[in-house]
Amino acid sequence: MESFSLRNSAVTVPLSLNKALTRTVIRGLTITLVLSLPSLLHAGETGHSIWGYDGDRGPHHWGKLGPDTSLCEKGMNQSPIDLLRTRKTTLDDVQFSYRDAPFHVVNNGHTLQEIEPLSEMAKSRYPKHGQTVLHFDKDSTIVFDDDLYLLEQFHFHTPSEHTIDHKHYPMELHLVHHNERHEVAVVAVFMEEGKHNTFFETFLEHAPSNVGEVIDDHNHTVNPMNLLPERKSYYLYSGSFTTPPCSEGVIWMVLHDSIEVSAEQIQKFRALVGHDNVRPIQPLHKRFVLESNFEKATTMNATKK
Ligand SMILES: [Zn+2]
Repeated sequence: MESFSLRNSAVTVPLSLNKALTRTVIRGLTITLVLSLPSLLHAGETGHSIWGYDGDRGPHHWGKLGPDTSLCEKGMNQSPIDLLRTRKTTLDDVQFSYRDAPFHVVNNGHTLQEIEPLSEMAKSRYPKHGQTVLHFDKDSTIVFDDDLYLLEQFHFHTPSEHTIDHKHYPMELHLVHHNERHEVAVVAVFMEEGKHNTFFETFLEHAPSNVGEVIDDHNHTVNPMNLLPERKSYYLYSGSFTTPPCSEGVIWMVLHDSIEVSAEQIQKFRALVGHDNVRPIQPLHKRFVLESNFEKATTMNATKK
């Protein structure tokens, strides 16, 4: 079983990486960063994470970890879910506008995630998330349902959290966004075994192997647009964070089409995280899952706004 305490270990730097790349072991600082992310609210409050993916800190115990995590057990709109039963309809395209950002990859013990820089404008619009380091003034955004959402971070799960007819993909990408009212929209992309993925490789090269470690590389940029499939039709439902405190009201857009990564890359990611990071499927209860009508989704271009 994986220990989730932030380790005070010495860092070995594989020097194949760029010289300008800086790698830092941070303990107190990690807490500041992860606290700005609702999904990780409970990570490291006492210097170690109180939840994990196995044993008595695992998903079946999340609801009992503290007063703020009771939704994990009692919530009626939890994620992930199985996506077999859907209602096909016409859904507006999501308008993606992702920009290049310098690498700022965090190993928080639960996953590897790239934290997006926020501009001054975004900082004033999204004061709650203003703790993230500012790098430049162009933000990555999506427009969904006439609402502008800012990309905060993206991270990966293995195997996939969502399933189709209870079948998991080897991995799943989560791109986490917030709008001005701090409502959350997550775009999820299934990752299947196939061709080597050059973009994912660059991410893996910047992935810290120790918990609590951060890799900053201001000489290279990352653009998550490269991780999206060409066709962006999707499943849509209302759910929650898949990690404590399991807050609800999260808009989930799970793309139909998957992207490919090689078996070796899946292996590499698994080795870096050291364990599966997947929450079991949650009951749908009275929710509906909407699904883009394929033909229409490909020809339609949402031009509202
Ligand atoms: Zn996730």
